[in-house]
Amino acid sequence: MNKIILNKGKDKAAWQLHPWVFSGAISAALGKPQNGDIVSVYNIEDEFIAYGIYNGNSRVAVRLLEWDPSQEINEQWWRNRVSKSVNNRLSLLHDTNNTVRLIFAEADFLPGLIADKYADFISVQVHSAGIEKVKDIIVDQLVQLLQPKGIYERSDLKSREYEGLPDTNGILYGAVPPEFVDVIENGIHYQVNIVEGQKSGFYCDQRENRAITARYTKDKTVLDCFSYSGGFTLNAFREGAKSITSVDSSGLAIETLKNNIKLNGFDSSKHTAVQSDVNKYLRELGEQGEKFDVIVLDPPKYAPTRSALEKASRAYKDLNRRGLMLLNSGGLLATFSCSGAMDIDTFKQVIAWAALDAGKEIQFIYQYCQPEDHPVRASFPESEYLKGLLVRVL
Ligand code: SAH
Repeated sequence: MNKIILNKGKDKAAWQLHPWVFSGAISAALGKPQNGDIVSVYNIEDEFIAYGIYNGNSRVAVRLLEWDPSQEINEQWWRNRVSKSVNNRLSLLHDTNNTVRLIFAEADFLPGLIADKYADFISVQVHSAGIEKVKDIIVDQLVQLLQPKGIYERSDLKSREYEGLPDTNGILYGAVPPEFVDVIENGIHYQVNIVEGQKSGFYCDQRENRAITARYTKDKTVLDCFSYSGGFTLNAFREGAKSITSVDSSGLAIETLKNNIKLNGFDSSKHTAVQSDVNKYLRELGEQGEKFDVIVLDPPKYAPTRSALEKASRAYKDLNRRGLMLLNSGGLLATFSCSGAMDIDTFKQVIAWAALDAGKEIQFIYQYCQPEDHPVRASFPESEYLKGLLVRVL
């Protein structure tokens, strides 16, 4: 058996069930493990800590899987893990919702593996060499559990480079998804482009937050910034918003959003779609003296790492200042950050700072978080990334 021995004093996180062993924590690798091999991890006193998957190319040299020494990491073990994760999502799948994250990597104790369900199709992303080796088992287990029409791989991620893996896109099982798959979320229909859309095609992590925000939009003027295919826009439509403007820099996103409005039979005369940079557009609206009742700001990840946090905080501050300036008195800002490096307290400070700069008195009236199919694993705080604040301007 391949054996990894940790340096003295470098075993604490592993004992606390954190799944990452950094290469710098390793004292010796016995048995010449190859990338993707299962290894046993021991401390310097030769006490067994956990089994994991090895990758000598990665900064995360071992991704820990199992802390019970009596278990064996074999085919059945992988099948059980996949089943457990999928079964935890079944309550979210019903008549008015057929899109969920089935497997959320480390948070589901399946490091480096993401699987999303879009109606009858499943999209899979593989970030680690170890998962690459057992991909066939995982695909087969997903087929047994859910009988999808097709499973498509979208492993075109920066993180694969660090693992020494090439980009891989393509069909893993069954039929290639059509250009647009019709999915339903919160009872609203969306066309999802699994093969070419952003991320794996749709941001189902905002499911609950869209519905919660929409409650405040009846008869209101709404500005949905970073709209993508219209998650917040369509929920606001359904709740009876007076008018909605959606902004995104991607032409494909705007095109899909317009189709989604038609698909749901909403009145497109109440809607304005703008393809633009959000900051530029908000500045223009400010110059024109426009005001809104509800503004959504759901930008992409500004802080990909902790070291980028300071610069990102300034970007979040500027964006939110612009948003706050455009709100009517009593108006609401639903503002999000999907940067794992920015915690909720820091985010609150940034928004408070933006409000000071905007000369607005604000209240935090609700805290958004990520939904149950994107669980936060207690021993892996890195799995918490999505947060938001609902802010009232006085
Ligand atoms: N709110 C969306 C998800 C947003 S994802 C939903 O509910 O589904 C972030 C979006 O921001 C992407 O669609 C991306 O095209 C867009 N984007 C990124 N940078 C942008 C910019 N500077 N201006 C406008 N849109 C931008």
